[in-house]
Amino acid sequence: MDTQTLWQIVLADLEVQVGKVMFQTFLSQTKLLELSDQTATIGCTQPFLLSLIEKRYYPLIKKTLDSYTKLDTTLLFKPISGPPKTTIDGPLFHVKPQQNMSTSRVRLHPEYTFENFAVSSSNQMAYAAATAVSQKPAVSYNPLFLYGGVGVGKTHLMQAIAHIMIKNRSQTKLTYCTGEEFTNEIIEAIGNKSTVSFKKKYRNLNLLLIDDIQFIAGKNAVQEEFFHTFNAIQQSGGQIILTSDKPPEEIPRLEARLQSRFEGGLSIDIGPPDFELRTAILLIKAKQRDVALPINLAKLIATSVENPRKLEGVLVRALTESQTQGVPLDEDLIRSILGKTAKKVEKTAVSPQKALQVVASYYHLTLTQLKGAKRDRAVSLPRQVLYYILRSELNVPLVDIGNIVGGRDHTTILYGVRKISDLLQVNKTINGDILGIKQQLLE
Ligand code: ADP
Ligand code: MG
Repeated sequence: MDTQTLWQIVLADLEVQVGKVMFQTFLSQTKLLELSDQTATIGCTQPFLLSLIEKRYYPLIKKTLDSYTKLDTTLLFKPISGPPKTTIDGPLFHVKPQQNMSTSRVRLHPEYTFENFAVSSSNQMAYAAATAVSQKPAVSYNPLFLYGGVGVGKTHLMQAIAHIMIKNRSQTKLTYCTGEEFTNEIIEAIGNKSTVSFKKKYRNLNLLLIDDIQFIAGKNAVQEEFFHTFNAIQQSGGQIILTSDKPPEEIPRLEARLQSRFEGGLSIDIGPPDFELRTAILLIKAKQRDVALPINLAKLIATSVENPRKLEGVLVRALTESQTQGVPLDEDLIRSILGKTAKKVEKTAVSPQKALQVVASYYHLTLTQLKGAKRDRAVSLPRQVLYYILRSELNVPLVDIGNIVGGRDHTTILYGVRKISDLLQVNKTINGDILGIKQQLLE
């Protein structure tokens, strides 16, 4: 095998171990320049990342490389000049895992554990089911089918179950793979006429985890083989855990018999993380890197970044910049990384008191009039505009708005907010008013 092919395989393996974000940020920038005399020379196209990669990933890279070469290699890192890259986020190249599954051991992300999983209303059902399955596999929820959008924690939660099962029963025979890898393996087995060993490998498992199972839909031979694998594992008392981007009934071109198998267990939806959960995830990710991330910075990031995968990206980027440029990890740094989205953050930093003043002066009213009890249109409309601004721009809860604006009931506030949002669709004057007020809030 030439060094290039070898490195592609090693990188594919590393990607699975460290996760896509870390992989793309750090490891995808590396090349194996030379392998001789048990020394691997690894080049990096981003010289400023070099010492970080070496510090953080030396043992992992060595272990992974050695597992393929069967050597005891010393790693040497050196910079290589490549085309300048403006961002460290994007992948330089993407390596598809292409090695035969049977050559890889169980590849679980070491940090995808229950301890590292934050729970909130969007994922607590899934969390409860996952812990139940990890304690009593193949008893109640079989298969466990977790579905939801990108980055909501499906892979993390599914692997957390596997970690517990390995810990509790070291004899557990388990396989983790993606729907895509499973597909490739079946196709390969059919091509090589090695379906017998494929069957032997899969049908004796105690635990089968297939991530992104939607990938097999529409592929007849694969669905057929999976159906038999599924039945064999279930009948011999094994647990099956699947994830998907959609519930079984919504996966296009999924065979009906598979759909009914998937629905025969428990399928649970994981929703997008709310602000609190995003903040908690950031704190966990920082802790894993031994960084004390101040809570106000975690909140600042969580306000403007919604996708959990990007959360980690922003954090890594902040840490990298702070280390390589010797600047403190503070609000300025975070804001500069967040760039444009930071404007949105500033907007939320406006105080309710300021909103009151701006609305009052915009409509030439006094604060007392605005907060008072009078109900004629000259004050009631501005008051409703104020509710709307507080709710939709400053994100103040309805009950709090009621308290701020003269002790009103939250249903009154809700009524006002809805009225203004309806008016906004049809009324140009209100539109202009809101724009003008928003402008003044930012001044
Ligand atoms: P999915 O498989 O649903 O696309 P992942 O499991 O890959 O999402 O999660 C994306 C990233 O967000 C991972 O780094 C994961 O650890 C993190 N993450 C998502 N949800 C949580 C959570 N509730 N607690 C801690 N980390 C989370
Ligand atoms: Mg996933």
